[in-house]
Amino acid sequence: MFKFLKEKLKTWLSKSKKEIERKAEKEALKIEEESEELKKKEEKAKKLKKEIKEEKEKIKKEGEKETKEAEEIKEEKEKLEKAEEKIKEPEQKIGLFSKLKKFFAYQITESDFEKIFSELEVSLLENNVALEVIEKLKSELKTLLLNKEIKKSELEDEIKQALKKSLEEIILQPEDLIKKIKEYRKENKEPYKILFFGINGVGKTTTIAKFANLCLKNKLSCVLAASDTFRAASIEQLQVHADKLGIKMIKHTYGSDSSAVAFDAIKYAQQNNIDIVLIDTAGRMHTKTDLLRQMEKISRVTKPNLKVFVAEAIAGSDAIEQAKTFNDVIGIDGSILAKSDVDEKGGTIISINYITKKPILYLGTGQNYSDLELFDKEKFIERLGL
Ligand code: GDP
Repeated sequence: MFKFLKEKLKTWLSKSKKEIERKAEKEALKIEEESEELKKKEEKAKKLKKEIKEEKEKIKKEGEKETKEAEEIKEEKEKLEKAEEKIKEPEQKIGLFSKLKKFFAYQITESDFEKIFSELEVSLLENNVALEVIEKLKSELKTLLLNKEIKKSELEDEIKQALKKSLEEIILQPEDLIKKIKEYRKENKEPYKILFFGINGVGKTTTIAKFANLCLKNKLSCVLAASDTFRAASIEQLQVHADKLGIKMIKHTYGSDSSAVAFDAIKYAQQNNIDIVLIDTAGRMHTKTDLLRQMEKISRVTKPNLKVFVAEAIAGSDAIEQAKTFNDVIGIDGSILAKSDVDEKGGTIISINYITKKPILYLGTGQNYSDLELFDKEKFIERLGL
C-alpha cells in the first residue's frame, strides 16, 4: 500500500537535507575564512593597544621632565586617543559570535525552498496528487519552514515534521459512521438513508455489499435499493450480494425510474423497522445533463442522510475529475476509495479529500466483505513513512 509515494517522500527528505547542508557548508566555509581574518585583526588591535599604552607612559615620563615640550606632547596624546577609538574590539566580537552560530544552525531561504519543493512537486504529481493539493501543500510547508532557524542536526527531521503537519492540515478524519448511525437510530424512527454513486467498474457494488456486511456485524439491519436501472446486469449483481448476505433487495425493471425504486426501499424499511437503506445509483448516463437530472431527482425524493462517492484509489486524475463532477452535481458528504490494497501511490486519497473538502470514510482493502477499513488519518500518514 502506497509504496511508491512512501519511497519518493523518503528520497526527497534525504535529498533536501543534503541540498541544504551543502549550502550551509559553503556558508560555514565563508564564515571560517572571515573569522580567521577577524582573529588576525584582533591580534593586530591588541598589539596596537599595547604600543599605545607604552607610548603614553613614555610621554607621561618625558612630560614630567621637560615641561617646555608640553604642547607637542598634548598633540601626540590626542592622536593616540583617536587611534585607540578606532579599535572596536567588542563590536567585532559580537559579530563573530553571531556568525559562529551559523556553524550549527541554518535558515532555509526562499530559493532553497523553491529548489527542494520543485523536486517534491514532481514526485507528488507522479503519485496522483492533484495540482490544487500541491499548491496548498506548498503554502503550508512554506509557512512552517521558511526563515526559521533550524539546527543542522535536526534538518531532515524538521522537514519531515513540516510535511507531516501540512498533510495533517489537508487530510480530514472521518467520524465513525456506524456509531453515528446507531446514535441517529436511537433518536429517529426513520431509517438512515445512504446514497452511493460512482462510475461503473470502480467497485461500487462490492463496496455497498461490504458496508452492508459491516452494518450487520454491528447489529444494524439494512435493505438494498437497486436504483441503478441503467447499467445492464447491475440489478443481478447486487442481488447476488443481497442473497449472500441474507438481506432484502428492492428492485424494479431496467429502464424504470430509479427514484421510485429507492422510494419503495425506504417504505419497506419504515414498515419493517429496518435501520439503514443503502441505495445503489447509476454512475453514468448518456450525458452529464441526464446524470444531473437523475441525481437531483433521487436526492430530492429520498432525502438521504449521507451521499457517498465511491472511486478507485488507483484511478488518479480520472477519479479526481469524477469527484469534481459529482460534487458539482449532487454534493459529496464523504468518499470510499476501493482497491487501495493495490494502490502504491496514495495521492488519489489525498486529492479527493482536499477537492471535496469532505473526509474519506473507508478504504476498500480487498475483495472480501470484511475488507473495508475505517479511514484513519494518522495511520495513513504513518503508512507514507511520516
Ligand atoms: P462496480 O461496477 O463499480 O459495481 O464494481 P464491482 O463492485 O463489480 O467491482 C469491480 C471489481 O473490483 C470486482 O472484481 C471486485 O471484486 C473488485 N473490487 C472491489 N473492491 C475492491 C477492493 O477494495 N480491492 C480489490 N483488490 N478489488 C476490489
